[in-house]
Amino acid sequence: MIRMNDMILLKLGELILKGLNKKQFERRLIANIERRLKTFGEFRVYSAQSAIYIEPLSDNCDMDRAFTAMCKVFGVVSVSRAVACPKDADRIFETARAYLKDELSQAGSFKVESKRSDKRFPMTSIDLSRYVGGKLHDAFPHLTVDVHTPELIVNIEVRDFAAYVHTGGTPGAGGLPVGSGGRAVSLLSGGIDSPVSTYMIAKRGISIIPVHFFSFPYTSELAKQKVLDIAAVLLPYCGKLTVEIVPFTKIQEEIRRLCPEEYLTLIMRRFMMRIADRIAQKNGCGALCTGENLGQVASQTMEALAVTEDCTSLPVLRPLIGFDKEEIVSLARKIGTYELSILPYEDCCTVFTPRHPRTKPSVSEVVEAEKPLDIEALVQEAIQGIERLPIVT
Ligand code: ATP
Ligand code: MG
Repeated sequence: MIRMNDMILLKLGELILKGLNKKQFERRLIANIERRLKTFGEFRVYSAQSAIYIEPLSDNCDMDRAFTAMCKVFGVVSVSRAVACPKDADRIFETARAYLKDELSQAGSFKVESKRSDKRFPMTSIDLSRYVGGKLHDAFPHLTVDVHTPELIVNIEVRDFAAYVHTGGTPGAGGLPVGSGGRAVSLLSGGIDSPVSTYMIAKRGISIIPVHFFSFPYTSELAKQKVLDIAAVLLPYCGKLTVEIVPFTKIQEEIRRLCPEEYLTLIMRRFMMRIADRIAQKNGCGALCTGENLGQVASQTMEALAVTEDCTSLPVLRPLIGFDKEEIVSLARKIGTYELSILPYEDCCTVFTPRHPRTKPSVSEVVEAEKPLDIEALVQEAIQGIERLPIVT
């Protein structure tokens, strides 16, 4: 439902601090916002005074869903539903009375808080709060004024073009606008960890190319669909996603056929890194990202990380490296990927897990162990077979 002059007001985060980059960041953020809003109607989006204004251009704009979507856009610290009115104390009061009628009727106590970025406005913030607060008190006599812990805060912002009334913002997603920091390939399994690591790197302003290694028929179509569903949950944060599905069966079978069992996982992970590296080079990516975490499993000791990282010259970003499992799970729940991740479909690692994996491997012994393989041919063949699936909402 749209109420008169109903709009969404976004406060910007870290990018305020970025000085010269600021304009570029704002442009990027506005483009990301416009892309997200497309399915909810036609909006006008513009920035002024370290805020972004989103105004519906027609009655059929879905403001509720637009609001929810804006809470997932990186680069925004707070999101408010607000209403615009002329910069005049009585008009501001009338607007607050009408727009917040339900909230004011239901609350027991309230206060008015004003901010004035237009310093030409004739009243000080304190005077404006007092004036509007007094008139609202007259209009809703059941209310008490409580300046310390009010049930309702009526916010007034006097800005360049208009005054805005709202009841405070919901926290935004924080971070930096996706795309402002370049691109990375993210290795996305169907597990709990890599959706979270993907989210965390996107939050730092990085566009993501998700890559999934798929071992059909050892892993089923359902396992692939699960990864696509996880990507769909990540889409509102990441902006734009095309999942690259890499056929991985032959590589795994060849490793199992020709290499010592204790190295299966390590050699398999080296292939993932090699292929991710090629995809990264092709797409101008500056890094790879994984959900690896020190010490969780045998393939995630420092020695094992060194062995896998040996196959790429790009930095490998591992945002979960120091997290406890509970911390990862609680983030996964917050993002909304957890329920999908725990669906019980097999993944390529569990299917080929050695009974006694090497936990302290050296690069040279693994290189020796993978010697029987025609590495370049296997990598080439896998890359030829990549399937690209754009995620749409
Ligand atoms: P996750 O919960 O992300 O699956 P994990 O704790 O199960 O992680 P591993 O299975 O050792 O750990 O995988 C470590 C990382 O390697 C994953 O976080 C992911 O980034 C990448 N990875 C593993 N399997 C795949 C796959 N099939 N496709 C793409 N990336 C993968
Ligand atoms: Mg896994």
